[in-house]
Amino acid sequence: MLNHKLPTFTQAISQLIAQPSISSSQASWDQSNADVIHLLAAWFETLGFTITIQAVPGLKGKLNMLAKLGSGTGGLLLAGHSDTVPFDEQRWHSDPFKLSQKDDKLFGLGSCDMKGFFAFILQACQPLAQKPLKKPLYVLATADEETTMAGARFFANSGIIKPDVAVIGEPTNLVPVVMHKGHMSHKITVKGQAGHSSNPAQGVNAIEIMHQVISQLFTLRDALNLKYQNPAFDVQTPTLNLGAVHGGDNANRICGHCELDIDMRSLPGMKDEELVAWLSNSLATIAEKYPGRLTITELDPSSPSFQQNENSDLVRHAEQFSGHSCCAVNYATEAPFIQQLGCQTIVLGPGSIAQAHQPNEFLALSEINKTERLLSQLIHQYCF
Ligand SMILES: [Zn+2]
Repeated sequence: MLNHKLPTFTQAISQLIAQPSISSSQASWDQSNADVIHLLAAWFETLGFTITIQAVPGLKGKLNMLAKLGSGTGGLLLAGHSDTVPFDEQRWHSDPFKLSQKDDKLFGLGSCDMKGFFAFILQACQPLAQKPLKKPLYVLATADEETTMAGARFFANSGIIKPDVAVIGEPTNLVPVVMHKGHMSHKITVKGQAGHSSNPAQGVNAIEIMHQVISQLFTLRDALNLKYQNPAFDVQTPTLNLGAVHGGDNANRICGHCELDIDMRSLPGMKDEELVAWLSNSLATIAEKYPGRLTITELDPSSPSFQQNENSDLVRHAEQFSGHSCCAVNYATEAPFIQQLGCQTIVLGPGSIAQAHQPNEFLALSEINKTERLLSQLIHQYCF
């Protein structure tokens, strides 16, 4: 009997949480996710899955794990990320890496976002070991979702599987999510010519050019809002946020350098290239007026918007099994990358997004039975 070696749900989530796997754009925080991946690989291997571990190119110590049970084409992919965000020790009431239980909640970093999901999958898979599947069941654990989504991007490009359907277990309170916005961020840099403030003609003031840039961005924002709307979202239009501006050094100097960081969120149906084209076209006149002074660079790799057709088999079953109608959310996930595998894709998992990225993150014990039942129903629907 193989199952002897496998942990219970609480043991599994506790061991996953005990292995730090923080992703951060700050090098001092950023960690390898290898310990979590190897733990998952060992458990799923014990259950009879075949394991593939991918090193994500260009990132040291960042791994994806794919586990496969059964053979043939199509099937079900249960996917999630193995990393967590950093934590603020002062604001945690308990050790973030030690699972603790209080008031019918399990506390720990990654409990709901989203190491807990893998502990659920492990439980849902244990009764499967003896039954032959008609179609394969895949489990994917990715790296670096919280920063670059490099794990999911690489996995999608590697195209090693083509499941019929995929469920990403991010915390949605078990409501099927079929839509979210895309996200991109850019730095706009204006190179001026510094000089003494007593004679403005002796320099080129970068702040004054940036002022023109900002007015153009407001015009762009208005145009986008007029052209694109989607009533499924709380914020029904694409957004453009001015996030940070830095420039100049002294009141008595002509500003020689100014930069502005912006963030844009696209609606489903808008392509990333389209939004980038809108941005560069809106600043084209200023770029011509001041040759060589304006540059636009991507800050982080963009992540596309996501939409799954609501009239699809997967959405229908997910609504039926969960008892919830599908919805749109205002955060980004790996769904657009997983969808590139050519499968129907939804986001659906236990826990609330309100707890994600927060101190004292928890998973309510009341989620356990519902989630295990839902996962079993999905597996039976798509693999048997
Ligand atoms: Zn997450």
